Amino acid sequence: MTENSNTSGLSLHTRMLIGFIVGAGAGIAANVFVGQAGWLDGLIHYVTDPVGQLFLRLLFMLVMPLVFSALVLGVVEIGDAKSLGRIGGKTLLWILVVTAIAVTIGLVCVNVLEPGRGLPQEVGQELLAAASDRATEVASKREGVSGLQILLNIVPRNPVAAAANGDLIAVMFFALMFGIAATVIQSEGTRSFVSTVQGVYDICLKLIGWVIELAPYAVAALLFSITAKLGFDVLVQLARYVGTVVLALAIHFFVVFPLLLRTFGRMSPLAFFRGAEPALLTAFSTSSSSATLPTTLKVTEESLGVPRRVVRFVCTLGATANMNGTALFEGITVLFLAQFFGVELTLVQQVMVLVLCILGSVGAAGVPGGSLPVIAMILVMFKIPPEGIGLILGVDRFLDMCRTVVNVGGDMAGSVVIGRSEAAAEAREAARQAG
Ligand code: ASP
Repeated sequence: MTENSNTSGLSLHTRMLIGFIVGAGAGIAANVFVGQAGWLDGLIHYVTDPVGQLFLRLLFMLVMPLVFSALVLGVVEIGDAKSLGRIGGKTLLWILVVTAIAVTIGLVCVNVLEPGRGLPQEVGQELLAAASDRATEVASKREGVSGLQILLNIVPRNPVAAAANGDLIAVMFFALMFGIAATVIQSEGTRSFVSTVQGVYDICLKLIGWVIELAPYAVAALLFSITAKLGFDVLVQLARYVGTVVLALAIHFFVVFPLLLRTFGRMSPLAFFRGAEPALLTAFSTSSSSATLPTTLKVTEESLGVPRRVVRFVCTLGATANMNGTALFEGITVLFLAQFFGVELTLVQQVMVLVLCILGSVGAAGVPGGSLPVIAMILVMFKIPPEGIGLILGVDRFLDMCRTVVNVGGDMAGSVVIGRSEAAAEAREAARQAG
């Protein structure tokens, strides 16, 4: 019996897929046939919500120790400054280039399909009025994410407080610095520290192995809760906008990733999607790259066969810094709202939107709705009312699920490509030394 199969003999992939179909199918049926029934609220409130939340909490519980240990070990295993610089450079290049491609696809789709011009003003005003409280709340959060402050916040004043507040980027910075220093001082003390960190990482991985056994049930529960409550009417009202986002995400996911995987990763896209499936399904049902990180690390190493040191470095950084789906979504949403409010953006302004979306996706937190305050910030810059975000809040959960899949897929595809290029670099190095 492999690690991925249980006593029923079905692999984790298959069990998760069954959970997905059962949860979504039952939720949609409940929504359509018994949407108003009181017992449905009870079922969601007392059964499916708690099961889903339990799973999410178990995953989040592992995120901080994993991020710290994975990054320290990633840097230590890479070993020398030259290799670290090389892998760091490739990661940065991947993030910038692939995110730019994603936003470009989004901007082209939104300019061609113009979903914001098709939406009747009365429908828009109704949606805005219905979501005005939450929209004001989201719009006010943008104050904490102003440009220079994002950069300064990368460096934590107090790493323990950063960890306690769930500030992943600051914890990553701290872990990277720790790893670099541990590589430089090769003392007995640092060696025993590193082996302790290795112990922490191994324990976390074991725990993920147990938690993930719950995934099929949790995926079913999460999807039931979401689909049973989903406003299908709003999805229909905003069909052109939703369609534009989903189309652009699909192009990035099913065309750009496969091309990059084939050309630079030398991996068949089918093998990639099959191996990545548990992480992609977790991303879809949790809408959180951070909550998916434990699964992403496990699957990328074990099922996609990417070297550990590359996985630890690229996937961990990628979980908050590499968000292709989020960047693409930000671009479409800003332009959609500009179209709706009749704000004309010139080509130069659209290029500015592109740059801001790339930076904004790095700054967005890997949690459900993490990109909304960033969008509010960009809207203000272009004199579009930030409360306009209320227009899309009703469909955001569904789009969040889809864009998180693309975010996580981008981290895994990046690991495959960078892992392959590292293997080639090592082979060249070995040949040079032998020759
Ligand atoms: N939910 C997304 C993620 O965790 C972030 C966002 O776009 O809201 O990757």
